[in-house]
Amino acid sequence: MHELAICQALITQVTDLATERSATSVSDIFVAVGPLSGVESALLQNAFPIAVAGTVADGAELHIDSLPVRVHCKDCDAESEVSANRLLCAQCGTWKTRLVSGDELLLTRVELEIDKHTGHRDLSRTSELAAEG
Ligand SMILES: [Zn+2]
Repeated sequence: MHELAICQALITQVTDLATERSATSVSDIFVAVGPLSGVESALLQNAFPIAVAGTVADGAELHIDSLPVRVHCKDCDAESEVSANRLLCAQCGTWKTRLVSGDELLLTRVELEIDKHTGHRDLSRTSELAAEG
């Protein structure tokens, strides 16, 4: 199941980001998957709870968007959006095209929860009382 490996790579990116921003948890993870990436969204969704278990992203929600397939035509230089099983130029109909997008898996957005006040509440109350008295 290569979706698990892909998912774990994604979570590594997410946890690195969370560490960098001193986040306490991750609430939402947004990814975009191209139809030609070879990644099944359903399998990725299934692998997700296994990949996040025990990490800062444990309990986060995974949102999967699909990316359009786009090709660049070598004959007429047009760029067009096509279906995944028909990579022909939409302008002139040639098969001499180059894939521009549709085979990638991207981490598009991560929602982090950052708690700046952890552990300081009791201390500040004590100093307030001392100032009044
Ligand atoms: Zn063309």
